[in-house]
Amino acid sequence: MQTPAPFQYERATSVDGAIAALVAHDGDARIIAGGHSLIPMMKLRLASPEHLIDINDLEHELAYIAERDGEIRIGALTRHVDLLGSDLLARHYPLFADAEEVIADPVVRNRGTIGGSLCQADAAEDLSAVCAAVKARVVIRGRDGERTVSMEDFHVGPYQTAVGDDEILTEVRLPLRSGAGSAHFKTERRAGDWAIAAASAAVWIEGGTIADAGVALSAVGTTTIHLARAEELLRGAAPSDELFAQAAQIASEDCSPSADARGPVDYKRHLASVMTRRALRRASARALAMEA
Ligand SMILES: Cc1cc2nc3c(=O)[nH]c(=O)nc-3n(C[C@H](O)[C@H](O)[C@H](O)COP(=O)(O)OP(=O)(O)OC[C@H]3O[C@@H](n4cnc5c(N)ncnc54)[C@H](O)[C@@H]3O)c2cc1C
Repeated sequence: MQTPAPFQYERATSVDGAIAALVAHDGDARIIAGGHSLIPMMKLRLASPEHLIDINDLEHELAYIAERDGEIRIGALTRHVDLLGSDLLARHYPLFADAEEVIADPVVRNRGTIGGSLCQADAAEDLSAVCAAVKARVVIRGRDGERTVSMEDFHVGPYQTAVGDDEILTEVRLPLRSGAGSAHFKTERRAGDWAIAAASAAVWIEGGTIADAGVALSAVGTTTIHLARAEELLRGAAPSDELFAQAAQIASEDCSPSADARGPVDYKRHLASVMTRRALRRASARALAMEA
């Protein structure tokens, strides 16, 4: 099936207007941002919304990367290309550029957005793991106001998030803490493809010790995998290859890949481990380089 089912289309002129339209259509409407996930789903008839609410005119409200109140705040309509080129992110959270360099191709990166990526909640998608590793919080707005949720609470299940039918993801917030280092590693079959396995890691090093850590995996489960056990192991320890090898072992144990055209289960578990080890090594090296 290559054509979507019929739908009505409207362009929002404000975030509140988009929310009002979602409310008015009572569960039959979907937001469209870059359209790089939703349109293919509609063509395959995996999604058949009766109404599309286009938010692409809301760049003044929803497209920005800014430092405010001890956080980096990223508007939901910020495109991949702008995440890739951001000096602010490169300085504090270089794993964004690591990931963006290997997300799809320039055509997708010019239109696709961080909000669309997170709300799609595809387990193979890179930015959910990135945001989980850096302990981002996301702002969700509905008719009754805003709420802020952690990435733990944001991922509800495969292709499911905490964003309700009549709500919009408006912002992603990243904590700014000293001693941070981060990295994202991905293995793909060919340039521009989805991951066979990918790992995002962040560490916060204070006085030679890992004060806090975040590790998450893409493409090796039905949702983004938050490696809580590995984070527990890393917290309070001195960074070392042995420690990262133990965390990598946990990654291979705590993921749950399925066999498909990208490879068998044992290969994916192995990749999850290798990607985790590399991401932790580089994250730690970056944190120590910032300290020096
Ligand atoms: C060929 C190809 C290769 C790709 N490869 C990769 C890859 O390697 N890694 C990767 O991570 N991604 C990849 N992607 C996906 C890409 O990153 C998309 O941009 C992304 O998944 C969706 O972003 P979007 O803005 O296009 O969202 P849309 O398609 O517009 O929306 C996706 C979903 O999110 C909802 N939504 C969008 N914005 C909001 C919002 N603000 N609030 C509430 N709901 C919202 C929509 O209703 C829809 O359900 C690929 C895509 C393509 C087409």
